[in-house]
Amino acid sequence: MRIDLHTHSSVSDGTETPAELVRTARAAGLDVVALTDHDTTDGWAEAADARPAGLTVVPGMELSCRWFPADQPPISVHLLAYLFDPAHPALAAERERLRAERLGRGQRIVEALAADGYPVDWPEILAASAGGVVGRPHVARALVRAGVVDSVDAAFASLLHHRSPYYVTKADTEVRQGIALVRAAGGVPVFAHGLATKRGRVVGDDAIGAMVEAGLVGLEVDHPDHSEAEREHLRGLARELGLIVTGSSDYHGTNKTTPIGACTTAPEQFEALLDAGTGTAPSTG
Ligand code: AMP
Ligand code: FE
Ligand code: FE
Ligand code: ZN
Repeated sequence: MRIDLHTHSSVSDGTETPAELVRTARAAGLDVVALTDHDTTDGWAEAADARPAGLTVVPGMELSCRWFPADQPPISVHLLAYLFDPAHPALAAERERLRAERLGRGQRIVEALAADGYPVDWPEILAASAGGVVGRPHVARALVRAGVVDSVDAAFASLLHHRSPYYVTKADTEVRQGIALVRAAGGVPVFAHGLATKRGRVVGDDAIGAMVEAGLVGLEVDHPDHSEAEREHLRGLARELGLIVTGSSDYHGTNKTTPIGACTTAPEQFEALLDAGTGTAPSTG
């Protein structure tokens, strides 16, 4: 069994449509794939409808959250959520709030770049996102189209990283509130790439403890952005705290170089995750 529980489609900041993504998953030899677009469930129906025989498709999402330390600015944390009820009103409202937050913030980033002479245009980027959830990768692709940089990665390295003068923050969900919302909707919250220091500042064990008290169910341990030491630390915490351990690629199509299935989840951990989710069912058969 090969199980990848974290992938993105063009409904957020991946490059393949949900239908293409499930075909890619099967062609890569996966038995289970979770679709976890940022802050949206809009790809679920298409992924389920296009599911190749023999592939299980788990409906999921990656919710943009923040942890507020006592003595530092907020830290960005991503919460994977599986098998929740997409119609749960409070969680649906939070998704809509985040979508609007991303639109305002994307426009500010693009207008600041344009004001400094970079040939990017917000209406063009919005059109290219085709109604999906907009993120910095959409701005990165526009910079590639305009010939400013030659890759999405180069756009992040030069202009879009979180210390760039063009960076604009967004008011992401307070993570304990996010966990509570996912649980209220019958879902399974898993802390995504929790110790990936290569992505920026990360939370301490105190925050993870608080997240567990709020209802966190799992930790994503095997992730391409985690070092071996970071994985070991998380594995120890999971053992100590009785949490599910997952592994996944965080596939984004050609917006990143990681192939689908680059990291995977053990079958018994996946079974535990299925048992914990009551808001919706995976597509299987
Ligand atoms: P945002 O959600 O708008 O803050 O953008 C964050 C997203 O940008 C992440 O989910 C990744 O998909 C992507 N990202 C971050 N850093 C890089 C990078 N160096 N190269 C490519 N994509 C990146
Ligand atoms: Fe992303
Ligand atoms: Fe993430
Ligand atoms: Zn992701």
